[in-house]
Amino acid sequence: NDMINAGNVGQFVQDFPLCMQILMEGVQQNHHLRYSGRQQLSLFLKGIGLNAEEALKFWQQQFTAMGPGSMSVEKFNKDYRYSFRHNYGLEGGHIHYKPWDCRTIISKPGPTKNEYHGCPYRDLHRDELSTRLQQLGLEDDTRLGEVLELSERGEYQTACTKVFELVNRERIDSCLKQGVKVDESSIVHPNQYFDRNRYLDE
Ligand code: SF4
Repeated sequence: NDMINAGNVGQFVQDFPLCMQILMEGVQQNHHLRYSGRQQLSLFLKGIGLNAEEALKFWQQQFTAMGPGSMSVEKFNKDYRYSFRHNYGLEGGHIHYKPWDCRTIISKPGPTKNEYHGCPYRDLHRDELSTRLQQLGLEDDTRLGEVLELSERGEYQTACTKVFELVNRERIDSCLKQGVKVDESSIVHPNQYFDRNRYLDE
């Protein structure tokens, strides 16, 4: 996938699951992300096709852009370049690191102050989650209430799958009408959420 690069990756954010949207917002606002957030987002971006060179460009741009928390290019190169290259298997043990699936994300401690990793269906307070979902286009009705309840019951992936369906209801229906198959299984991986969105885009 040569289509996604440092310059245009931001245009795909609407196809990201909520966890990754929040991380993108976090890095844009703070010009930084702490360790778990960097890992969760950078491996996801690798999974959607951002290659190593473009990823370094993206992270350097984010971390050094003018604004609060930003750093010099020298500092970025000294402190962060290695670890982003490492995620691509270009340093150290040359291991092929896979993007985290939902289970991995949910098995880790949630975010503390100034952290953005994790799963919002687990980690956001009800009101904040509700606001976020309305920003995604959901109406404040019983269906939104169901998502909040699923989240409170600990059924995070079911909540996420439901949100995907609600946000994309029209697109899914029009595929089904045309006899185009649509995968309606549960979301188990953020990259699967993205791929499902891209599939509907085509
Ligand atoms: Fe992200 Fe998975 Fe949580 Fe959805 S269920 S927001 S893809 S971690």
